[in-house]
Amino acid sequence: MKKTVLVSGGAGFIGSHVTVELCQAGYDVVIADNMSNCDETNYKGVCAILSRQLPFEKVDFCDAAAANALFDKYHIDAVIHFAAFKAVGESVAEPLMYYKNNLDSFLNVLEAARSHGTHVLFSSSATVYGEPDNPPVTEQSPRQEATSPYGNTKQMCEDFLRDCVKAYGMHGIALRYFNPIGAHPSALIGELPRGVPNNLVPYITQTAIGKRECLSIFGNDYPTPDGTCLRDFIDIVDLAQAHVCAVTRMIDGKMEEPYEIFNVGTGRPVSVMELVNAFEKVNKIKLNYRIAPRRPGDVMAIWADPALAEKKLGWKAKRSVEETLASAWAWEKRLAEAGK
Ligand code: UDP
Repeated sequence: MKKTVLVSGGAGFIGSHVTVELCQAGYDVVIADNMSNCDETNYKGVCAILSRQLPFEKVDFCDAAAANALFDKYHIDAVIHFAAFKAVGESVAEPLMYYKNNLDSFLNVLEAARSHGTHVLFSSSATVYGEPDNPPVTEQSPRQEATSPYGNTKQMCEDFLRDCVKAYGMHGIALRYFNPIGAHPSALIGELPRGVPNNLVPYITQTAIGKRECLSIFGNDYPTPDGTCLRDFIDIVDLAQAHVCAVTRMIDGKMEEPYEIFNVGTGRPVSVMELVNAFEKVNKIKLNYRIAPRRPGDVMAIWADPALAEKKLGWKAKRSVEETLASAWAWEKRLAEAGK
């Protein structure tokens, strides 16, 4: 029988790509989203890619009764929780908003999952590693004290999951994402930042299309090979496929521990400058950029050791940075055509 996965925040950037990969791998997916941080573009795109309407529930997971009702309505084998606020700077300015939303919603997911016997996959982040002493980081590398309420919610939610698994006999996986970039090759779904983008690649594509005047490269005086920060940029479709492997591992009863953590990265450090150069080259565009002061709070260098995910999940990132940057550009052009 087909298994069903509930994707909270399924209309967002990562959730929509994960939904497509799950469906293509033979899962049924229920998308739930309160639409607070996105419009219908990605939901419509998902349905277009899959040539069918997917069940969609407009639900705010901070509403415990509404969250629970979803688990009553559908027989859900696993839930993937994406529904959260994600802007680091905003979380510093509005910590209560971040704590209330990101913690309450996950607690409600955990409660419903517990009472319904549902496996839980939590979308965590490499931000939990802070500034690592010695990259690449493995899952055993120490977590560092969070530098923002957003980062703190990721750490706290990991701990909620770990403790619930231990106490209630549940099963859970936390995936720690590095820097997800790009868009689906169909250009029907992608990232839709609200207002001025915080992240590098949407800022690059918006500058290239003319929505922004000039990209600021935050610092070229770091002690790195070219002076700019090093990151592990991972293709969004590769990242989405890691979720399919993780969900299958849970549902098929293949977990070795009831709570597992995996890095989802490429293992390949790429500097900000290298990324900009690669974007220009692969898309044959001259980007308007300037060197600006360092951005407060930025980590100098972090990339994944993805060996555990390869060994245990059978997952590995496949796409090149060039391929991914071409997909990001195709998506931005599609948005421009649609007047967005
Ligand atoms: N960055 C930049 N200009 C921008 C946005 C980001 O130079 O407009 C740099 C940023 O300083 C960091 C890297 O790009 O070194 C990745 O930043 P992003 O916000 O995309 O992700 P983070 O790794 O901070 O989560």
